[in-house]
Amino acid sequence: MGTRTLLVSLLACAAVSVSAWEDHAPITYAALAGQPCAARMVRAETLDAFLAAERSALPAALAGIEAKAKKELDYYPPLPPALAFTGEAPEIALRAAFLAAIRVNPSMPFPLFVQLPPGAPRAGRPPLAIDQADLMGFRIPDPPFVALSPGEKLSALGVVATASDEPDYGMDVGLYADNGGAVGALYGFGKQPFGNPSLSYGSQAPIHMAFPHEDPLIKLAAPFTQRSLSAYRILQYSTLARFAFASGHPYWGWRFAGWALHYVQDLAQPYHASMLPGLSTFQIIWLNLTGGAAAKSAALVLVSNRHTVIEDYLYRAMAAPPGDPGRDRLVAALGMGPRAPRVEPWRDDYAYDIIAWKSYRRAPAFDRLVAATFPAAYVSDPSYDYAAAGEVHDPYDELQARAPVKAAVFDEECASIFADLGSWTRCFVAFASDPKAAELPRREPFDPRALGYLAAVAALAVVIVALARKKGLRR
Ligand SMILES: [Zn+2]
Repeated sequence: MGTRTLLVSLLACAAVSVSAWEDHAPITYAALAGQPCAARMVRAETLDAFLAAERSALPAALAGIEAKAKKELDYYPPLPPALAFTGEAPEIALRAAFLAAIRVNPSMPFPLFVQLPPGAPRAGRPPLAIDQADLMGFRIPDPPFVALSPGEKLSALGVVATASDEPDYGMDVGLYADNGGAVGALYGFGKQPFGNPSLSYGSQAPIHMAFPHEDPLIKLAAPFTQRSLSAYRILQYSTLARFAFASGHPYWGWRFAGWALHYVQDLAQPYHASMLPGLSTFQIIWLNLTGGAAAKSAALVLVSNRHTVIEDYLYRAMAAPPGDPGRDRLVAALGMGPRAPRVEPWRDDYAYDIIAWKSYRRAPAFDRLVAATFPAAYVSDPSYDYAAAGEVHDPYDELQARAPVKAAVFDEECASIFADLGSWTRCFVAFASDPKAAELPRREPFDPRALGYLAAVAALAVVIVALARKKGLRR
C-alpha cells in the first residue's frame, strides 16, 4: 500500500471547518488595549497609492521573502518566476501584479474601512456594506463596517484589529489547482493537500491550519498533512509590514501586520494545529486500515462539529455586550493584566515551534472537555451536522442558561487559551511593528517521539536477532 493511500482517506478529508475564531477583530482589540498602537494615529492610504509610491523598492522586498521561503520553509511551492513583482506595470495594473506576486485571491477589493469594536459608536462615519470588504459574507457582531476616505485619521489599533480578520474574507479561497478557479493553474500551489477542494471556503484550510507536530508516524505515512502555507503567509505579511513601516507607510504597516497576525492567531486554536485530537495515533492508523467509509466519516463529522461549536460559542461570547460575565472574563484574559502569560520574544517559525506546539498538546484534553460540555447531539452524534444550512444555534446562551457549572469550567479553559492568545498577539505585534526588532533564529522544540519509535524498532531488532541465534544454536 502506498504511503499516500495509507492515510489519505481519513486525513485528507480532515480539516473541513476552517475558521479558527469567527471574528478576529474583537480578540485583537482586547489583546492590544492599552498597548502603544492604541494611542498612535495613522492616516488611511489606499493600496494603489502605497504600490505606486513603493513600486521601485517593493521588488527587492518581495524577492527577499521568496529567497527566505525557499531556504527555510519545508514543502514550499516556489513562486512561478512570471509572477514576480517588477514594479514596471502601468499604475492601473500595479495592484493586479502585486496580488499575483503575493498569490492571493485577485477578486479581493481591499477597500479602506474599519471594523469597530462591538457596540462602539460609528460617530457619523458612513457604513460600508459587508460584501464590499468580505467576499464570504462572514458574521460581524456590529455591522456594518465603517468606510474610510484616503488621508482620514484613525487609531493604529483600529487598523490592525480590522486587518486581523481580513484573511477570512476570501483572500485564500480558490488558490489551488483543483479548486476550479482562474488562478489555480497560475499560482503554483499544486493540488490542495487536505480539506475539501470543492467547498469554496474549505479551500483555505491548508493556509489557515498547520499540523507540524502530528505524530512522526503520521507524518511519515501522510506527508501531505505537512503542506501548510500558514508559515508562508506569516513570513510574507510580517516582512511587508516591516517594509511599510520602514518606508513611511504606517497605515499599510499596521494592515499587513494584522494580516500576518490572523494566521498567528489561527494556530492558537487547538483544532487548527491538531487534525484529529479525539483519536490517538494508533486509533487513527487502525481506523484507516480497518474502518469502513461510515466509521471514517463519523470521526470526521465529530471533529468538525466540535470545532464549529467552540467557534460559534466563542464568537457569541465575544459579541456579547460589556458587562456579560463570560465576555468580560475572556476580554480580561486576552488583555495585558498581571496574570498574562510571559512569552519569549518573536523569532523565526515561532507560530509553528511555540504556538502550534502548545495548541497541539492541549488539543486532546480540550477535545474531551468540549465533548463533555455540550449536548451530545452537537458534539457526540455523527449523524448530526452542526453547521448544516438553516440550523441556528446559540451554544453560548444555551450553555450559560442550561448548565452554568459546566459553563464556568469551560470558560476557565477558554480563558487560559485566550490568555496565551493575547500574549502571543502582543509578542507578534511588537516584532512586526518595529522594523529594527531583531529577527531571531529558529529554536525547534524537542520532540522525543521519533527517538522513541527508533528505540522501539531497535529493541525489536535485538529481540529478533537474539531469537534467531538461539534457534541457530539449538540446531
Ligand atoms: Zn483563518
